[in-house]
Amino acid sequence: MRLPTLITLIALYATVFAQGSRAESPDALPSLQHFSPDQVDKSLDPCSDFFQYACRKWMKANPIPPDQARSGTFPKLVVWNISAVRSTLEDAARASNPTPVEKQVGDYYASCIDEAAVNKAGISPLQPELDRIARLENKSQLPEIMASIHQMIRPANLNFIDTQYQGVLFGLYSAPNFGDARVTLVALDQSGMGLPGREFYINDDDKSKYIRDLYLKHIAKVLELTGESQAQAAADAQSVLAMETALAKAAMDVVARRDPKNLNNKMSLEQVQALTPSFSWSQYFAAMQVPASPQYLVLAPDFFRGVEKLIASESNEHWRAYLRYLTVNFMAPYLSQPFVDENFDFFGRQLSGANEIQPRWRRCSVNADADLGEAVGQAYAAKYFPPENKERMLQMVRAIETALHQDIDAASWMSPGTKELAHAKLSAQVDKIAYPDHWRDYSSVVVKRDDFFGNVARSARFEIDRRIAKAGKSTDRQEWGMTPPTVNAYEDPQTNTINFPAGILQPPFFDAKEIDAVNYGAIGMVIGHETTHGFDDQGRKFDANGNLKDWWTPADAANYEERDKCIQDEYTQDVPEAGVKQNGKLSAGEDTADNGGVHLALAALQNTLKSQGKDLDTSTPDGLTEAQNFFLAFANLWCGENRPEAARTAVITQGHSLNRYRVNNVVANMPEFAHAFGCHAGQPMVHANACRVW
Ligand SMILES: [Zn+2]
Repeated sequence: MRLPTLITLIALYATVFAQGSRAESPDALPSLQHFSPDQVDKSLDPCSDFFQYACRKWMKANPIPPDQARSGTFPKLVVWNISAVRSTLEDAARASNPTPVEKQVGDYYASCIDEAAVNKAGISPLQPELDRIARLENKSQLPEIMASIHQMIRPANLNFIDTQYQGVLFGLYSAPNFGDARVTLVALDQSGMGLPGREFYINDDDKSKYIRDLYLKHIAKVLELTGESQAQAAADAQSVLAMETALAKAAMDVVARRDPKNLNNKMSLEQVQALTPSFSWSQYFAAMQVPASPQYLVLAPDFFRGVEKLIASESNEHWRAYLRYLTVNFMAPYLSQPFVDENFDFFGRQLSGANEIQPRWRRCSVNADADLGEAVGQAYAAKYFPPENKERMLQMVRAIETALHQDIDAASWMSPGTKELAHAKLSAQVDKIAYPDHWRDYSSVVVKRDDFFGNVARSARFEIDRRIAKAGKSTDRQEWGMTPPTVNAYEDPQTNTINFPAGILQPPFFDAKEIDAVNYGAIGMVIGHETTHGFDDQGRKFDANGNLKDWWTPADAANYEERDKCIQDEYTQDVPEAGVKQNGKLSAGEDTADNGGVHLALAALQNTLKSQGKDLDTSTPDGLTEAQNFFLAFANLWCGENRPEAARTAVITQGHSLNRYRVNNVVANMPEFAHAFGCHAGQPMVHANACRVW
């Protein structure tokens, strides 16, 4: 597994796992959106608010659907992709002569869509696990119980938030060694908080207190659904919240987690054991079948010291309540209606602002993708990704890499030695497009047409075993951390790769029928964004081989940090609808990638136009200049808005700025934008102190 806190995505929410809107018709795919210059609102001035100029009409025409926390170009394409996945799953479920892969994914989908059977089963599929937790009479049983829980809960994927691994008590996965990325180590990470991050437990503003009150009620309701009396559930909920709050206080701050040196804590088994003397790691590792290793990566040692304190201070009764609640909480989406409804009510409605749950077919398609992604993805990719698109993507990737090589050469603030190492790193980058060369083999996962919960649990077991089995082995640079239908992209500094799943290579991101200016403004910006991540405040600390190694001279590093500081200050800003302030230190990497991404895509477009005897001012058939098309296609990707609840969570827990800043702060740093739209100094879209890293 990649080290998820270092993975830099184009957009956190924009995955096939995101909430989506209702499908227009149960059988048809929604229509894809294409770029159109008519979408601009001509009554507005592009130089005073480019986001509104480019997006207001779109947002009026595309309000946030009731089962969604946000509107936008990304979520719309997510819906299209989920519908496409559904179509392949239904074909597989109906196939009269299915291949083994079709049989597996078809049976999985059929088991999920059979809501009556799931409802009839109630909580019974989870009961054996709850009985095991109920037998906790001595804390020496914790390692065995934790292993049993961890083997059943679907491991967190790359899309999890930066604050913590989403799981029970702590997270176990494998990740490349910081010092030698060729080798993969077992990693232990902070986790176990039911709310999205430590700030939710620690902040004492009114909104935070209000959310904690709602959360307390949610915990009690979940426990009541497991059969506890109302009084018992209310008392247990207090203990659970107190334990989660203690974990939050021990957890590493989300900004500190962005600095890889804070995470690079390699320890022997004895040292890990010394962090939590009351928890036998030998027993836990044996139960999880973790191979013995001279070194383990402990991302947040203080967190595990906090776990030790909790083991010492909390009663068995409190531990039983905590484990029961969190286990049910994670498995609720795969249980009967009352569990599903309560889960949606808190996480969907109260924490994200959605009014309705997504239809079951969509949740089932999302689950199939999450559990058997590379099996589901085979039919999807064959049906929806034309192979010739891969060649055009590769051409654009190469053009953008060339633009960054040129940018490095032109950087007046870097010395020749550092430039040489930057070139070497960029040249060593592996570019992955659409889907893997070799599909993952899930044939050992038993899938039954009448056992949805069991299918989820067995798929989870397969995935966690697969991750653990990588420990001590060579790191595989060709492995994918996202499934083919995912609408997202990522850069991984430890494998030095950029990755673009087939799901994002559709209009309006990538459009084979569009002119270069539009494709560079859209998917070109995404490619530039991921490429820049290799050289942002986090990525620049890794070398060509993916090792955490300082290859910068002190003077060059100081110059970098001065430029980075400009970005941090620019994005430290009030976000009124979220009721919180954005921390530019948290979002610096994403903001740098946004700015660099648009610069590199524009430079690549310029190079391409030059070879065709044109330039950015050349008029195109739609009446706009090449540059105007480019900037509008770019802004178009970020049309959309968040419900206030979702905006608040995003600003607190993760590095991506909200959409309008991803457009306006970037263009206001670019003289090329001012030139393209005739903006002048003093207007809002022309920053007096324009920031520039790449
Ligand atoms: Zn990013």
